[in-house]
Amino acid sequence: MSALAGIITEKCPKCGKGKVFAKKGNPLLFQMPRMNERCPVCSHKFEKEPGYFFGSMFVSYAVTVGEMIIFFLLAHLFIESFVTIVVLIGLLSILLSTFNFRLSRMIWIYMFDGKGRQV
Ligand SMILES: [Zn+2]
Repeated sequence: MSALAGIITEKCPKCGKGKVFAKKGNPLLFQMPRMNERCPVCSHKFEKEPGYFFGSMFVSYAVTVGEMIIFFLLAHLFIESFVTIVVLIGLLSILLSTFNFRLSRMIWIYMFDGKGRQV
């Protein structure tokens, strides 16, 4: 399995089979995603050390800003009111929050804990 497929399907970077997240979370129900501590298939430990995922906040920032820019450019074609677009971007960032949380951690995991690395 390629890294990209692993990131999208949220699978363990070592075996490519186990799920990284036990719960996907739901922003409308105020539920945050919950990670498995270890891979349920190969028992690979996801959080190497305390604060391991601190850096994924920077990935999350980049992902979120990218989404906002894309949304702004698209919305600008259809909506004239700048305030409306900004409000919609706010709503979008709430709706995508759990998705971005999972995506940024998956990118982080595959950046520093990808297959073939000796840990
Ligand atoms: Zn695994």
